[in-house]
Amino acid sequence: MNISKLARSIAASPTLSLNEEARLLRQKGEPVINLGIGEPKNKAPIAAILSSAAKLNTGDVKYTPPDGTPSLKKAIINYTEDNYNRLPAPENVIVSAGAKQSLYNILFSILNPQDEVIVLAPYWVSYPEMIKMCYGIPVIVAPEDGGFYPRMADIEQSTSSYTRAIIINSPNNPSGALYPASFIAEIVDYCERRKIYLIMDDIYHKLVFDAKKWAPGYAYTDRDIDNSMLIVVNGVSKLYGMTGFRIGWVIASRRLVEVMTNVQSQTSSCTSMVLQSAAEGALTGMQSIVENLRLTMENNRNIIVQELKSFTGIRTNIPDGTFYILPDFRAYSNKSVELSQFLLRKALVVTVPGKEFGMEGHLRLSYAGSVKELMTAIERMKWALDPNTSNEIYIGDRKLIRDWL
Ligand code: PMP
Repeated sequence: MNISKLARSIAASPTLSLNEEARLLRQKGEPVINLGIGEPKNKAPIAAILSSAAKLNTGDVKYTPPDGTPSLKKAIINYTEDNYNRLPAPENVIVSAGAKQSLYNILFSILNPQDEVIVLAPYWVSYPEMIKMCYGIPVIVAPEDGGFYPRMADIEQSTSSYTRAIIINSPNNPSGALYPASFIAEIVDYCERRKIYLIMDDIYHKLVFDAKKWAPGYAYTDRDIDNSMLIVVNGVSKLYGMTGFRIGWVIASRRLVEVMTNVQSQTSSCTSMVLQSAAEGALTGMQSIVENLRLTMENNRNIIVQELKSFTGIRTNIPDGTFYILPDFRAYSNKSVELSQFLLRKALVVTVPGKEFGMEGHLRLSYAGSVKELMTAIERMKWALDPNTSNEIYIGDRKLIRDWL
């Protein structure tokens, strides 16, 4: 069978594969706890359900303009004005099938073969693969101190004449780090001056804890959207618990949006009208759902940090936001893939190996689930790894004895 070299080189999304593995184990009746999944448990907002149901009920479900329905674009414009203090024109907005497709369309539209894109470690797994899919080269920049906050000096050193874009995601998947405003100001200025696109993946921007403040990139540039290097990505998946609705969007210059619209019109034509109505409902309906989610995630963050602190040998950061934490498990193993597999087999807990995010020796744990699940999962992990805990544990109705990695 002929499969292209490029397609063969693309790895499966590890989080989606792990989800599938967990689902199959659950189907067999195994009491698996999934700390791998990157989605909140809350139901979609009622306003989203009602507005998509109303559209569906008309039976008149057709193509929409490739860049999105005018009314969803209007809702996105209002959202951008409220949250970013910028008023985009409709021509600055394009709706896609999730922020994932938005990011892919951006990269496809800006990269020539061999162009470089700077990705800051730890990074979301899909960035390097997407860059490669567009014949670009991901240049991974990791902070020298092994921490989660990037430094401008490292980025400057990694910039070359081939650097076309830098991707930043703050608050960050997988670390939960919120980059300081001073860093955002510096990188915005750097990209504007050097004419490098700054792709800002803001998908978690309202999930920020401890009264910290997320600041939009636009706060640090005077340029209007059409003359700026900023490309803003957002969507309804994370903040509104609408991962399955697949709606994301981009705010960028008219020229780039025009090109992305051509690309989208030749690939998916448009996203579903029904799902665009749902996103519009979410954006124009009651916003308390987002604050409720944020409060729940902050509480879960506090619990998981507390539990991990009593875990011998584990060193953990304290996430500033999102629903992920990236503790350092090197006291137990330097090989995160093996460790994650061990925890799945032994303790029936799904984690994501840090290696996938450019942070070997760490595991990403999602605390988007229930408190009970979180506590049980950490208890099982301690039992599997920590010699100071009891040698026996019940997993479901099975009594298990620890043996070693
Ligand atoms: N960016 C980041 C950093 C993410 O974590 C995710 C989802 N895991 C996405 C983008 C994609 O979101 P969507 O569901 O809108 O495609």
